[in-house]
Amino acid sequence: MNFADSEVVASIMAEVGVETTNDEMEADIIFINTCSIRDNAEQRIRNRLKHLRHNKRQNKDLTIGVLGCMAERLKKQLLEEEKLVDIVAGPDAYKELPILLQEVEDGHKAINVVLSLEETYAEIQPTRLNSNGVTALISITRGCDNMCSFCVVPFTRGRERSRNPESIVAEARDLVAKGYKEVTLLGQNVDSYLWYGGGARKDFDKLTAEEQESSVSFANLLELVAQVDPDLRVRFSTSHPKDLHDEVLFVMMKYDNVAKHIHLPAQSGSTRILEKMNRTYTREWYEERINRINELMPECSISSDI
Ligand code: SF4
Repeated sequence: MNFADSEVVASIMAEVGVETTNDEMEADIIFINTCSIRDNAEQRIRNRLKHLRHNKRQNKDLTIGVLGCMAERLKKQLLEEEKLVDIVAGPDAYKELPILLQEVEDGHKAINVVLSLEETYAEIQPTRLNSNGVTALISITRGCDNMCSFCVVPFTRGRERSRNPESIVAEARDLVAKGYKEVTLLGQNVDSYLWYGGGARKDFDKLTAEEQESSVSFANLLELVAQVDPDLRVRFSTSHPKDLHDEVLFVMMKYDNVAKHIHLPAQSGSTRILEKMNRTYTREWYEERINRINELMPECSISSDI
């Protein structure tokens, strides 16, 4: 997700005439896109910031921004603790970066960590960074509503929302036109993708039956992307066991170009621990899903996290 986000940031900055460089000593602006999933990830960012003191000494005009989950988690505290940092921007504030940069130019520290119920960056064509020209990531959802007890994501990336399917299909088409051979549909919780015109997933229940009927599920979206080009291989990640329904498996079976691979984090083999983790499924549910995948697609590979 972070890599896909960095590509969105690069695109937003390109709009205001800022180019990317692979040489950090050449950069006038350095954004560090951060993860808070483990303490270790945050410690690495703090070490990286120490290392950047040298860059700041060499270039007094260098602007340093911390983006993403660590920015969202620590907010103003990050500006207080890391004097080197000029900008703190949460994962839903990337469009504000040009304004935040202007604030820094005016001599202030700048911060925006407001989480959104709507932002999906749907209209932004990501600038492909370090691209191999073959594989690309397409972000389809943001945030997560699941509240697993061990996970910080719902607090750092906000409520779950899905991106307009037309913009996803358009991005896939554009990648095909540019010669890409494989796309990965990305989300914290990819199978719970649900488009009903925009807004938080939690509000879906407030719609009328008719409105709900016309929504686009992950199975529908996977089919739309698979139909973009039979030679485009389509992957998706990450699946939550409670949301991996048969409809998704049927689409995988129907299209040769959907890769027969499912990453399905079990997290624990104990129903008691799963309950403590608030994973909302049991060991038996998980086993049933694995058996169903094996039954429908014996060739399908399955990977997991514990
Ligand atoms: S589903 Fe994934 S992202 Fe969401 S809270 Fe659980 S572990 Fe975190």
